[in-house]
Amino acid sequence: MPDATADVVVHDALVLTVDADNRLFERGTVVVADDRITEVRPTREGDADVAGAHVIDGEGSLVMPGLVNAHTHLEMTPLIGAFSDLDFRELLANMTALFARLGDEEFAFFRKAGYELAALNFLTGGVTTVNSMDVRPAAGAEVFGEAGLRGFFGPAMTDLYWDVDVDEQFARFRRFADEYHDTYEGRIRATICPHDDWSCSRDLWERTAALADEYPDLLVHTHLLELEASNTLARSNGAEDSVGLLDEVGLLDERLVAAHFRLADEDDVRRTAAADASVAHCPSIFAYWNPGPDVQWTPVPELRDAGVDVGLGIDDHYWHDSYDLFGEARQARLAANLKRTAGQYDSMELVRMLTIEGARALGMADEIGSLEPGKRADLVLLDVDQPKFTPLANLPAHVVNNATPADVSTVLVDGNVVMKDGSVETMDPEAVEEHAETAIEWFQTRTDWDVTLGGSEPPSTMDNLREMPTRGPARLLGRLALQSGRDAYEKLRR
Ligand SMILES: [Zn+2]
Repeated sequence: MPDATADVVVHDALVLTVDADNRLFERGTVVVADDRITEVRPTREGDADVAGAHVIDGEGSLVMPGLVNAHTHLEMTPLIGAFSDLDFRELLANMTALFARLGDEEFAFFRKAGYELAALNFLTGGVTTVNSMDVRPAAGAEVFGEAGLRGFFGPAMTDLYWDVDVDEQFARFRRFADEYHDTYEGRIRATICPHDDWSCSRDLWERTAALADEYPDLLVHTHLLELEASNTLARSNGAEDSVGLLDEVGLLDERLVAAHFRLADEDDVRRTAAADASVAHCPSIFAYWNPGPDVQWTPVPELRDAGVDVGLGIDDHYWHDSYDLFGEARQARLAANLKRTAGQYDSMELVRMLTIEGARALGMADEIGSLEPGKRADLVLLDVDQPKFTPLANLPAHVVNNATPADVSTVLVDGNVVMKDGSVETMDPEAVEEHAETAIEWFQTRTDWDVTLGGSEPPSTMDNLREMPTRGPARLLGRLALQSGRDAYEKLRR
């Protein structure tokens, strides 16, 4: 019998520990005291009768670690469905226009509604940790903190894309980090977010490195090697390539979480592994918005073989209309198998990327990501007593190929039950839906977008151009053209 200090006991469940040996209990018990897991073992007589504890009968359920969404953006969540049928150029034009205005005070209600909608849907879908880069993350820290979830948040910083004074951007970061880092019992943490390797000048990267020295506990979260222009623009910053740029300014280390890393070559993989930096792989966004048939695919198997921790991220989920992080595992496999050959992953590797490797990428592997005594109790129960899971052969394959958010019944974060048998304990779902409806209505009147049951119509290009930041994108295109010219010249000379 668990000792009398137990707060939560889950008994008679299938338990997928995702520990170093991937141990699996057919009839297992997980005991939680306060915020920690104290026991993970086969079920014993008496586990169902612990006085004073919250006892959960796990019969017909699978217990596994909560999922880690290793790279995402959340403020624009009310726009789910708005982008789905745009072409790639329309998407970029509209995103640029929106990104420039999202930080305005008048968008405060919209942003908060976005965080609420994201928190509710990720929570109910088994995601217990997010790593989000946004324009104004304060509401995100508060919404996720109050919902009992775990989240890494930081304001995106860029000087070539965005017409916001860099001093002001750094001041905003400081205000955010000083107010929110390590709050809500440590569940909410701040991150330093230079946006990417194509829209930040060397000066911004150097200032970011100085900031990282000043805030040594914070992760540095960015987009790296995402676009064909990435290395070219890193060269316009005086570096050999993207990874070289980060190395030169002193940011290529274990605190770095690089989203995408799609264009990495062997040397990039080697340098990243040597620096112990991490990668967040986001297959759906790129598969959905693939700009061309011949694009290179992210070398995730090579990264993992080299020892790089690779988590999975859903990225801008409102661009591809999915809150389903289980689906990212399936998409990671399908895209890699399609671009390369079958057999790029085995199922348990994908389960690990959804959980412990995502935790490792965020520097949290000692705390979360697996079910082991001493770890924080972030865990989810899936209802596997359903025809779709029958027979239960190869449980890891069922998790990554067949499970969906709708199968998640109960969620614990930090030992607190945030959802029990499908009922959310820490949020008011009706209020969240109402706020999202209000936000999208306001958005339509404010921006001339037309989002209806039948589809979505963005404002005309002319309207968008009027709202577009002018300095940033023009400067960026200028740099790209100049460096592409230089590169071509160098190639000819050689
Ligand atoms: Zn992203």
